[in-house]
Amino acid sequence: MTYKHESARRPGYAPLNHSWYAAKSPEPARHAPLTGRADASTVIVGGGFAGLNTALGLLARGERDIILLEAEQIGFGASGRNGGFVFAGYSLGEQALLDKVGVDRARDLYGRTVAAVNLIRERIARLDIACDVVDGGVIWANWFRDPAVLRRRQQLLAETYDTHWQWIPAGAMHEFVHSPRYHDGLYERNAFHIDPLMYARGLAQAAARAGATIHEHSPAVRLARDGEGWIVFTAHGEVRARNVVLAAGGYLAGLDRRVDRAVLPVATYVMVTEPLGDRLKEHLRTQAAIYDTRFAFDYYRPLPDTRLLWGGRISIRDRSPRSVQRLLKRDMAKVFPAFADARVDHAWSGLMSYARHEMPQVGRRAPGLWYAQAFGGHGVAPTCAAGEALADAIVGGDERCVAYADFGLVSAHRPVGYLAAQASYYSAQLGDWFKRRLEG
Ligand SMILES: Cc1cc2nc3c(=O)[nH]c(=O)nc-3n(C[C@H](O)[C@H](O)[C@H](O)COP(=O)(O)OP(=O)(O)OC[C@H]3O[C@@H](n4cnc5c(N)ncnc54)[C@H](O)[C@@H]3O)c2cc1C
Repeated sequence: MTYKHESARRPGYAPLNHSWYAAKSPEPARHAPLTGRADASTVIVGGGFAGLNTALGLLARGERDIILLEAEQIGFGASGRNGGFVFAGYSLGEQALLDKVGVDRARDLYGRTVAAVNLIRERIARLDIACDVVDGGVIWANWFRDPAVLRRRQQLLAETYDTHWQWIPAGAMHEFVHSPRYHDGLYERNAFHIDPLMYARGLAQAAARAGATIHEHSPAVRLARDGEGWIVFTAHGEVRARNVVLAAGGYLAGLDRRVDRAVLPVATYVMVTEPLGDRLKEHLRTQAAIYDTRFAFDYYRPLPDTRLLWGGRISIRDRSPRSVQRLLKRDMAKVFPAFADARVDHAWSGLMSYARHEMPQVGRRAPGLWYAQAFGGHGVAPTCAAGEALADAIVGGDERCVAYADFGLVSAHRPVGYLAAQASYYSAQLGDWFKRRLEG
């Protein structure tokens, strides 16, 4: 199976080395590119969290002969350059999930991400992955005066999902986050933040130690049926395998049209300030990571060396570091005017993959051909849940990942889908602005 990728083969994606994570970490030992012929039980395409978690899930279930192909380097995509928030849930909100699949399925799906948060924490400890874990929870800060949105979510989480977020009254919020922007907030204790690139590299090392073979700089360029199994071709080699897992996120593997067409790659941005020293503590007296209640929300977290990592915005455009910095610095100054003059040392962008239904797509496309993609902007825990579900399905039978069956490979309608996504983002941004203005 092959088709012409809509963008030229391996388009010029924003390099990973613009990111703070890549700049501060020593270059890891490289995994050699694939050359010649190899056999595997499963070949995984994509060395982000979806691919790595599937590899670890398979290894944990006793599968051997796993080969993972990464076009660039491990963690090159969204996984190695994201905000580092590890928290439960999906891009699709809890109420929408409930409305869509009913209480039992919604509980099951949400519960998988809670279990994933715990599994990530446990794996980091057990595999001794040094990834700057800050186990300080996450705060959802109310941008608006009206507390109804917090009350509704707190109640829904407690009653439907047995998940209990603590109320933070406005006075306490101002103690934690010294900004005129927020009112009250909710605190999710079972959440933490990490350096995602170190974590991705740690997962890859653990998978390699357990027997998986990883090849970097090995873009898969073609997929073909081979009897009961498949052959995946790279420029200099090929792998025959019973199972293939496509886990290419917003970077589109270009191997199966239906799988690629089901996602919309959308860019989002992050920057990191200079070390702020005591100024950071004066304004942020919490170790929690923070995001706010707008549709077009900011998110940020204190880094161990007193820098502030700041992220936000989505766009169909992959912007230059300079333009990312300009946009995000403006956003940061609205929340923390005192940091308006802070130097920004790194700014970068990454691609998320979104499905129209805003849920991950995890399942089987054809016998032996699996996919895990569309994790959107909320993918650290869901990719871990998906890796478990796929590993279960590959080892134990299809029906094991039926939990995600409601959220199939519906077309993202590119290129029109891009315009629709950008328009709905701008209109939601406008809605946020109006709501705030109305509150005075
Ligand atoms: C800037 C940013 C901030 C974010 N912040 C958060 C956050 O704080 N918390 C959270 O939960 N989520 C966050 N997300 C979302 C999260 O990072 C993603 O949902 C998740 O990492 C997706 O993982 P993935 O493995 O599906 O895709 P990716 O990590 O993008 O991995 C796909 C990989 O496939 C490779 N690939 C593509 N084609 C081929 C091919 N043909 N052959 C071989 N390899 C190929 C790519 O090079 C890439 O490395 C953020 C995303 C971005 C971009």
